[in-house]
Amino acid sequence: MPDPDVIVVGAGAGGLAAAWRLTTQGARVVLLEGGRAYTPSKDYPQSADHYERLAFPYDPEFDRAGRPRYGYGEAQVLPAALDAYRSHDAAHGRLVPGRARRYAQYSHVRGVGGTTLHFQGESHRYHPDALRMRSALGVGVDWPLGFAELERYYDVAEAQLGVAAPASIPERPRSAQPLPAHTLGYASQVLAPAFRSVGTTLVPNSLAVLSVPRAGRPACNYCNSCTQGCPLGDKGSADVAFLPAALATGRLEVRANAQVLLIERGPQGRASGVIYVDAKGAEQVARAEVVLLACGAIETPRLLLNSGGLANGSGQVGRHLTETLLWTSVGLLEERVDAHRGLPIDGSAWTFAIPERRPEGYVGGFRLATSHGMAGLRGPAFYAEFLAPGFGLEHQRRVAEIVGRGVAVSAIGEWLPNSGTYVDLDPSRKDVFGRPVARIHSRLEANELTCLKHMADTVRAILAAAKAEIVSEVTTLDQFMATHVLGTCRLGEDPATSVADPDGFSHEVPNLGFADGSAVPSSGSGDSPSLTISALAIRTADKALARAARGPR
Ligand SMILES: Cc1cc2nc3c(=O)[nH]c(=O)nc-3n(C[C@H](O)[C@H](O)[C@H](O)COP(=O)(O)OP(=O)(O)OC[C@H]3O[C@@H](n4cnc5c(N)ncnc54)[C@H](O)[C@@H]3O)c2cc1C
Ligand code: SF4
Repeated sequence: MPDPDVIVVGAGAGGLAAAWRLTTQGARVVLLEGGRAYTPSKDYPQSADHYERLAFPYDPEFDRAGRPRYGYGEAQVLPAALDAYRSHDAAHGRLVPGRARRYAQYSHVRGVGGTTLHFQGESHRYHPDALRMRSALGVGVDWPLGFAELERYYDVAEAQLGVAAPASIPERPRSAQPLPAHTLGYASQVLAPAFRSVGTTLVPNSLAVLSVPRAGRPACNYCNSCTQGCPLGDKGSADVAFLPAALATGRLEVRANAQVLLIERGPQGRASGVIYVDAKGAEQVARAEVVLLACGAIETPRLLLNSGGLANGSGQVGRHLTETLLWTSVGLLEERVDAHRGLPIDGSAWTFAIPERRPEGYVGGFRLATSHGMAGLRGPAFYAEFLAPGFGLEHQRRVAEIVGRGVAVSAIGEWLPNSGTYVDLDPSRKDVFGRPVARIHSRLEANELTCLKHMADTVRAILAAAKAEIVSEVTTLDQFMATHVLGTCRLGEDPATSVADPDGFSHEVPNLGFADGSAVPSSGSGDSPSLTISALAIRTADKALARAARGPR
C-alpha cells in the first residue's frame, strides 16, 4: 500500500469510529493497534461451565515481559469523617485498610475494539449543560462547540452502533429515534418502586446492544456477559459497529500488535508519521499527511510526552484527567429474584443527572443504575466469594440461603478536573520497549467527596426502601479503578488551557489530531462516555477531510 492519507493510532471507541468515517468518505487509512485482534467465538464464547469465573482474556496491568504497564502517584489520605463510606463486603470486611486511597487498577483493553470489547454497551448523550460548565456553573471548562453540533454526531454514531433506548428521557433530550428499548429484567422491576421512593424513575438503560436484529447482527440473548466479551455481535463494540463497514471500503488496513513508540516530526512543525514495533518485533516507520491519536486518555498523552513533549508547549498534555465517581451497593432482598438474568446494567434513573449546584453542597450530578451483572451477580461463585463470610458447612449453608437474592444499585457521578488528577511519565518504570510508562495521579477534591456521599446516601435509601440487607459496597472513594478516563488532551479555544483546537487538532502541530477520550473536556453528569468519544472522533475525521480538501496549512 502506498502511504495512506491518514494514520490512526489505536483501535478503540474513538480510533475505529474515525477510521470508519474517513474510509467511508474516501480516505485511505492505516490503523496501528498495539493489542491483538480477538476472535469472539474462540476467545470469549461464554459457553464454559465456569463462565462466571472467566474474565475478558487480557491482562492490562502487565506487559508481555510481566512489567507493570502503569505507575501511580501519591495515594490520597481520606478524612475519618468518611469512614462510613468505605468499600467493604461480607466475606472480607473493609477492602482497603488504613486511611490512604488505593490505586486498584486502570481498567481498559488493548486490542482491536479497544476498551469497548468489555464495555457494557451503555450509550449516553451528555446533558446540553455539560458542555458549558464554566459559563453555567463557574466550574470546569466550556467546550468549544455547542450541543446542536455534538447532537448531529451523536445521531451518526448511534445509527452505526445500533442504540436501543427509551424514545424520550426528559433529562437527555434527543432528536433521532433509537431502536426499541430493552425491557427491565425481573430484579430491576422489583426494585422500581424503591427508586420512586427517592423521587426518581427507573427506566431501561440506553445501550448499544441490539434489541432487534439489524445489519446482519442478531438481537441480544441476555446472557449477561457484556464485560466478559460479547460472543454474538449484538453489542456495538467498535470492532463490530465500525470495523466491518470500514474494511468493506477496501481503504482500511489494520495492523494489530503494532505498538507505536514515537511520533515523527517533519518540516514546518508538522508530524510526518510514526515509528512503531510490528508484530514480529521489528521497528517500522509509517507516514501520512495526517496522524490521528486514539490511544485513550492515558496512553495518548504518554505517547506525546515520549515523543519529546510534542504538542506540549503550554504544558497541558496529560493535565485535566477526569474519571467518573462510582458507588455500588449490593443488597439481599427477602425473596429470590435471580438478577443474573438479563443485561448487566439494565436500568437507569436520570433525575439527579443534570449538572447543577446542589443543595447538598457540590456542583455536578449523578445517574443511578441497576447494575446487578456489573457488580458481579452473575452466578453462585460471586455469592460464595464475596457475600458469605467464613468457610465449611456454615459457609455453604449461608450461600444456599442467599443465592439469587442479590441486587445491585450504582450511582455514577461527575468528576470535575483538578490540578491533582493528571498523567505524566513515570521516572522509574519503563515498558518492554524501554519507554517510560504513564504515571496516573488521582485526587478527589471536596466537591467530589461531597457528591460521593450524596450518591451513597441515595443508593442506600433505595435499598432500604426495598428492604434489602446491604452486604457489599464498592466505591471510587477509597479505590482508583477508573474505567472512564477523559480530558488529558482536551479541546479548547485557548492553547494555554487546552491541547487540541476546536476542530480536534493540536494547537501546535497542525496535522496531528485527537480521536479518543483524551479530547473530551468534561465527564458528563453520570454518563458513560464512549458514545461521546465516538461522536467527537467522527467529527474530528470530518474536520480532517475538510482540511485535506482545502490543502495543507
Ligand atoms: C469494564 C468497563 C466497562 C465499561 N462500560 C462502558 C459502557 O457501558 N459505556 C461506555 O460508554 N463506556 C464504558 N466503558 C468505558 C469505555 O469503554 C471507554 O471510555 C472507551 O472505550 C474509551 O475509548 P478510547 O477510544 O478513548 O480508548 P480505548 O477504547 O481504550 O482504545 C485505545 C486503544 O489504543 C491502543 N493503544 C494504546 N496505546 C497505543 C500505542 N502506543 N500504539 C498502538 N495502539 C495503542 C490500545 O491498545 C487500545 O486498543 C467501560 C470501561 C470498562 C473498563
Ligand atoms: S447480554 Fe447481549 S450484548 Fe451482552 S454479551 Fe450477552 S448477547 Fe452480548
